[in-house]
Amino acid sequence: MTTDARYRIVIRCPKCGEKYILRGRQKNDGEYETGFKRCVCGNEEELVIEASPE
Ligand SMILES: [Zn+2]
Repeated sequence: MTTDARYRIVIRCPKCGEKYILRGRQKNDGEYETGFKRCVCGNEEELVIEASPE
């Protein structure tokens, strides 16, 4: 069974308030593959990630 459903992923940075809207898919380990690296403010750990199916 393959799950290549696409998700709309919103990444919010609680440090500077920046918000990113991306598309990605869920990996087998439950994480989301978005290609997002880090926020413009340098924060790459304290990110709030919300995903909803497209
Ligand atoms: Zn930030």
